[in-house]
Amino acid sequence: MRKKIVAGNWKMNMTSDEGRRLVKSVIMDIKERFSNGLPEDYRVIFAPPFTFLEECSKLVSNTKGVYVAAQNCHSAEKGAFTGEISAVMIKAAGADYVIIGHSERRTIFAENNAFLAQKVNTAIKNNLHPIFCCGESLKEREENIHFNVVETQLQESLFHLPDHQIKSCVIAYEPVWAIGTGLNASPEQAQEMHAFIRNLLMKKYGKAISSDISILYGGSCNGENARVLFGNSDVDGGLIGGASLKAVEFMRIIMSL
Ligand code: PEP
Repeated sequence: MRKKIVAGNWKMNMTSDEGRRLVKSVIMDIKERFSNGLPEDYRVIFAPPFTFLEECSKLVSNTKGVYVAAQNCHSAEKGAFTGEISAVMIKAAGADYVIIGHSERRTIFAENNAFLAQKVNTAIKNNLHPIFCCGESLKEREENIHFNVVETQLQESLFHLPDHQIKSCVIAYEPVWAIGTGLNASPEQAQEMHAFIRNLLMKKYGKAISSDISILYGGSCNGENARVLFGNSDVDGGLIGGASLKAVEFMRIIMSL
């Protein structure tokens, strides 16, 4: 069954003390509202910095439906890659998801579609669910090539996967012009792109698989606009940056699912 998901990408924010306070507050709130953790088809995911991954996994382990993601992983299993973290290490730290292809990784760290395809493979091999990010820049939208851009990102990094592996992926549509800018896509723009992505999935993998994959929206999503964005039939939740750093705001977004 397709899951409704809110994932908080903390980026390079939060010390472990700050993170602990936030996670404890959110899981306490979840437990108060839903006695036995989240309903079956709901997921809340924290994506903290690596330094807090293991502790975060322990903190959420008793709360049904709450999971942990790493923000990145390397494509190699191990080796001489100073400063990098492997999928094996992430899994061993207790995480179940990993964000791959975030626009900041693509632009600041020059990660291309081929490299991201390798990361996706390594993540899946190590039983991590990729949260695969795609999305166009402002220039690409203005040039009206946003559908081609997103299609190419998916074709080159994700659509080599066989049926049983694509099923373990979550897709996040994050228009780059909306990330951290306060400018969210309109509900119509989000739905239009999500429906386009689902249609690509259907053409490649068939109806059953395409309707089972969660497609999240990301880009200046907050407690104010989450409900209307998530109200679209192909928007299954959100990947949240800035607004995931405050427990009350993050909880408002969760309650908009
Ligand atoms: C993100 O970085 O994934 C993101 C969606 O950021 P923000 O919510 O701050 O725009």
